[in-house]
This record gives sequence, C-alpha cells and structure tokens, in this order.
Amino acid sequence: MTIDAPHIEHLNRILPEEPLLMMGAGPVPIPAPVAAANGIVINHLGDTMGRIIDQVKRMGRYIFQTESEWIVGVAGPGSAAMEMAVANLVWPGTKVVSICNGFFSTRLSEMAIRNGADVEIMQVADGEAADPAQVEAALKQHRPQVLTLVQGETSNTTCNQSLAEIAAIAKRYDCLVVVDAVCTLSTMPLLMDEWGIDAVITGGQKGLSSIPGVSLVAFSDQAWERVTNRPEPMRHWTLDATLATNFWHKNSYHYTAPVSGLLALHEAMRLVCEETLPKRFERHRASSIALQAGIEGLGLELYVKPEARLNSVVGIQLPSGLEATDVCAHISKHYRVEIAGSFGPPIVRIGQMGEQCRAHNLFRTLHAFGSTFKALGVAVDVPAGMAELENQLQNS
Ligand SMILES: *Cc1c(COP(=O)(O)O)cnc(C)c1O
Repeated sequence: MTIDAPHIEHLNRILPEEPLLMMGAGPVPIPAPVAAANGIVINHLGDTMGRIIDQVKRMGRYIFQTESEWIVGVAGPGSAAMEMAVANLVWPGTKVVSICNGFFSTRLSEMAIRNGADVEIMQVADGEAADPAQVEAALKQHRPQVLTLVQGETSNTTCNQSLAEIAAIAKRYDCLVVVDAVCTLSTMPLLMDEWGIDAVITGGQKGLSSIPGVSLVAFSDQAWERVTNRPEPMRHWTLDATLATNFWHKNSYHYTAPVSGLLALHEAMRLVCEETLPKRFERHRASSIALQAGIEGLGLELYVKPEARLNSVVGIQLPSGLEATDVCAHISKHYRVEIAGSFGPPIVRIGQMGEQCRAHNLFRTLHAFGSTFKALGVAVDVPAGMAELENQLQNS
C-alpha cells in the first residue's frame, strides 16, 4: 500500500494574503532586515558564523549591560533559556527561593523543582509586584543559593519594579540571582552588572523583535564558577552551558546551530545597538503610556495599578460577561489585528515590545480594539480614546 500526497492546493493557502498585525504578547512583528537575515543559511562552523557569534556576544554585553564573557545561546524558545539557566545552576539539594508573580515565574520554580532543588515559593498576589522586605525575610529564613524571579510577568502584566533593590538584598545573603527578562530586555532598563544579577534570560520574539526559537542567557563570573564546579554533570546534554561554549566560545561543534535564526537575532540586536538603549527605552515607555491612556480614554480599565504595572505588555480588565476569546477572535477577523487573552485573570493583553511600539501600529490597534468592544456591546468612546492616544503621543 502506498500513501498519496496530500492535496497541496490546500496546504499552500494557509497564510492570509494580508498578514495579521501581531500586537499580542509575542511573537511580535519583525523588521524587514531581520526577516531577510532569517531567509539565509550559512555554514554553522565557518568564518562568517564565527564573526556573527563574536558580534552577538559583543552586542549582548551592551544589551545585557555586562562585561561578562559568559553569554551563550540556545536553539529553543525562551523556556529553553530559562531551563538552561536553572538546570546549570541547581542540582539535587540546592536551596532555591522562587518569587512567583504568575505563570512564567512559577515556571522557573517548576524547573528548579524538576532539577531536584529544594524550592521555597514566595507567592506574590496576582497583579502585585514583589516586596523587597518580604524577599529579605524569605532569604533570611531559607538562606538559598539561588533566587529566581521575572522582571516582567507577561501573564498578568505585572513588573517587579524593585528588581535592582531585590538583587542588592540577595547579594548581601550571598545568593545568586536568576532573572527572566524575556519580555523586558531592551524595552526597559536592566543593568546586569551594576545591579548584581547572575543570570539573565531572554528569548528572541519579544523585546528584541526577532523570531522565536533562538534564545540567550548571560551568566555572571560568579554564576559561571558555580556552573563549571558542579558536583555532578548536567543531566541535559543539549542545555549544558559548558558544552555550549564549544560553539559560543571555540567556534566548534556542540550541535548544529540554528544558523538562520542566529542571523536574524544578530540583525535584531544590531538594530537595538543602532537605536541605542536609552532611545529604545524611551520609545517603549512613551508608546506604552500613550496606549494605556488611549485605553482609559475608551472608558476601559487597566488590570494592574501603576506601581506594579508592566509597560511591555498591557493588561486590560474585561467588563463582566465578556470573554477574552471572543474579543481576540473579533479583532482578528474584522481588523486583522492579533491580541492576546490570558492564562487566568479576566484580561486581554496588548504587547508593547519592539516593533509593536510604533505610532501607526498603536492607532490601528486602538481603533480596532475600541470598535471590537463596541461591536460586542460594550459602551466605549472610540473618538475619546483615539484623541487621548494622539494627545499623549504629541506630548511625549
Ligand atoms: C514568553 C515568555 C517566556 C517563555 O518564552 P517561550 O519562547 O514561549 O518559551 C518566559 N518568560 C517570560 C517573562 C515570557 O514573557
């Protein structure tokens, strides 16, 4: 018996003729030069790749704000970078305190548990930021070797705005600090060396506006010492950070690197360096604040109060009776704008990462968003929202 080929005419018409505007919680739109770089395949161990990796590390030192040479990549999602950081730094018996603000910070704690660590969870109420005094109490009580937390909790749009203070406290307790910056890196300040952070995790498809599937981890010298002095080898061969240095520091073979994705990441990072971090942070801040004002101008409420609010992903409270899936389906079908629902809280989320923070994307998104609510029977004031957005952008 042979199996016939599937009907190709159905397979090649999946992509819409007009692409959807990706305004959800990632992946985000990529600039044309990043897309072009992603269309190229080169020798994964040749001279060109050697230069690309050298530059990715050099640009990484700027974007992570570190002098550490221990920047390594991984062929995998942001979660693979999280796992690389956690699995290399912990082993059975390691004491870990995990600050859990939501879905992703809890994922870090789960990874530590699966790697045999003795994990204490410091649960933060939904929609709030971690309180440094509470962190200090947890460190004092449990004396962990490793603290894990997120800078921005994408799932419920909270931001641990006291990250620098928390890292400073952890230093006093001789504790390594692992920070998930997947949605925030290059969208808001994160000073790895100055704040004393020991591992920073990022993915491609959010703040950096590259593609999903190629991610980075930066380790401090102190973290690297722990990684290279493990009492037992890493159990995950592919995620072994010391093996990753074969490729990332010696131009030799660990596994076949995701060459196209690395070229895309290189281009995305080059664009960050060209824009410079201060200008990029300001573009993100001004764009997100304008969007937030526009949403409030519509007459809707933001989910998180300003002290704990994440700018990189904006959470909007749903009026009762409205389902996130209905809002997302309507705005996608009628306006070709993609936004995100949530994992838990009654919100929808609009991303403000990388290319999402452009005025033309804000106007299209806010108009589509307001019109969607109107169509679904919610009394929102679309002209007032649009005017508020315009005013905020003019003033920034
Ligand atoms: C998206 C995200 C992740 C996971 O990234 P994947 O590429 O989906 O694995 C982890 N942490 C945060 C804060 C994120 O926003």
